Amino acid sequence: MSDHAVLHVKGRVLTGPKDDAGRDELWVVGGRITYDRPAAARDVRTVEGWALPGLVDAHCHVGLDAHGPVPDDVSEKQALTEREAGALLLRDAGSPSDTRWIDDRDDLPKIIRAGRHIARPRRYIRNYAHEIEPEDLVAHVAREARRGDGWVKLVGDWIDRDLGDLSACWPREAAEAAIAEAHRLGARVTAHCFAEDSLRDLVEAGIDCIEHATGLTEDLIPLFAERGVAIVPTLVNIATFPDLAAGGEAKYPRWSAHMRRLHERRYDTVRAAHDAGIPVYVGTDAGGGLAHGLVAGEVAELVTAGIPPVEALSATTWAARAWLGRPGLDEGAPADLVVYEADPRTDVRVLAGPRRVVLNGRIVA
Ligand SMILES: [Zn+2]
Repeated sequence: MSDHAVLHVKGRVLTGPKDDAGRDELWVVGGRITYDRPAAARDVRTVEGWALPGLVDAHCHVGLDAHGPVPDDVSEKQALTEREAGALLLRDAGSPSDTRWIDDRDDLPKIIRAGRHIARPRRYIRNYAHEIEPEDLVAHVAREARRGDGWVKLVGDWIDRDLGDLSACWPREAAEAAIAEAHRLGARVTAHCFAEDSLRDLVEAGIDCIEHATGLTEDLIPLFAERGVAIVPTLVNIATFPDLAAGGEAKYPRWSAHMRRLHERRYDTVRAAHDAGIPVYVGTDAGGGLAHGLVAGEVAELVTAGIPPVEALSATTWAARAWLGRPGLDEGAPADLVVYEADPRTDVRVLAGPRRVVLNGRIVA
């Protein structure tokens, strides 16, 4: 599209979960959304269907694969795969690669970075994280807060090989000091947590979000709800727990059994969290062991867990964007939107096949 071309999206423009605006059309002029029909527009291209704000994948990794950092051409492919899937806003939950160059590419999804993972030595996937001791946590959190885009990522628990089970990585005091430092620098903090035992300390230490959160229990759910701590369950990733458990069975039977229990109750955990008022967002964990472009699958998983379809949609669109401080289909906002053939509120599986993906006002898919 040239800068003078106008895009006319008509059908149904879903501006929020309640759709109370009742919009049936919008225009894209100069890469931005407007609800005022442009006067004397020439070269108008029309797209019909149900329009949503560009989807959010609130937990993925660009610049990372199963072995560690990847070259820029691989990062580019990862970002393009997200784009194809309609995921136009990514919260990168930790990457050892410098992907800043993507910010200069208006044909690639927007990324909100959490810097590089911060873990304890030998307590995470090799080549991913800064591996440090608790006394260095504040300094590393400060550094990643400055490098990122308003988020810092901790590895909150991982297998302790001596114990043969998952266990918490950070003493309460270290976490508290580090989270306070991040907040002082204007960054929010999130942590990878599979198990139960790290959660209370991290929430009481002031954390803003928990990734995976499979260890949420009935006694912790009210605490999360009261403090407004969000979770990003990454159910498409939790689906791999039985395979991981099988692989580790011989050496770490206790850990394997624990992983299986967390997997078995995953839907109950997510539904109970949602029902208690804990904000739940869509994230896929693509970019570690998982392929990119799974955002539709994760929305479907949230529905399977018992979250009402329109709220599962909101967890990747309106609510997710508000949580990350980015606009939806607002007047004057960058035109990042996805158009579908059918109403995604009726059946979220529609998300798997976008009719058109529009990024910064250009049709890119
Ligand atoms: Zn991850």
